[in-house]
Amino acid sequence: MARRRIIAGNWKMNKTPSEAKALCAELKDLVKNDDVDVVYCVPAIDITTVVEAVAGTNVQVGAENFYIEDSGAFTGEISAPMLVDAGVKYVIMGHSERRDIFGENDILINAKVKKAFAAGLKPILCCGESLALRKAGTYKEWIERQITWDLDGVTADQVKELVIAYEPIWAIGTGETATADQAQEVCGFIRELIAKLYDQATAEAVRIQYGGSMNAGNAAELLSKPDIDGGLIGGASLKPDFGKIVNA
Ligand code: PEP
Repeated sequence: MARRRIIAGNWKMNKTPSEAKALCAELKDLVKNDDVDVVYCVPAIDITTVVEAVAGTNVQVGAENFYIEDSGAFTGEISAPMLVDAGVKYVIMGHSERRDIFGENDILINAKVKKAFAAGLKPILCCGESLALRKAGTYKEWIERQITWDLDGVTADQVKELVIAYEPIWAIGTGETATADQAQEVCGFIRELIAKLYDQATAEAVRIQYGGSMNAGNAAELLSKPDIDGGLIGGASLKPDFGKIVNA
């Protein structure tokens, strides 16, 4: 079954609204490709600007975070209905920076996956191991545990719409990329896990990205692997290189 490629930028805490507008203009022609889903996941304050800037193009907008309640006394947070109303289609959750810096655990991430689906947002669910776990050889067990927790109570039909991003922490922002074979090994493992947790049709439908120092030079090889359906791109999503990754 052919899965549609999805290339998503994770801008992280970069770009003011005026810088965001300029970046959208710079990338506009470079990211054209009707065969690929192109997503810019941007800081909350940039969402309105970016939604306007990409209107009428092939780019969809994602958020980097949200909170699981619809409204109320949650100072500093934004909700899924707010994102939907603003024109957001995707939302990242489970990113290692949110797990490690902001203490988000799999119970919260699981609630976020369910809330995103209920609100009409597509989750980009991140998982991945530390260097210590990679060296210890226990990375698959770790990822199995993350995904099993994060998808608890999520239906097969929802998982068919899910994007899972495999992001080894040792490769994020370090310039060190997993080799295409290392990335394929884990992405293939994740697909087998989805088959075990759900069924073969669900495993064949779920889209799995690799993330971790993907760039214009290594994207084509990574994306040629059978279980790598796209990329989640940090640093290189802020540069014209992003267009080369979309068209790799
Ligand atoms: C990320 O943080 O999602 C990421 C993949 O970052 P980078 O591409 O900069 O390694």
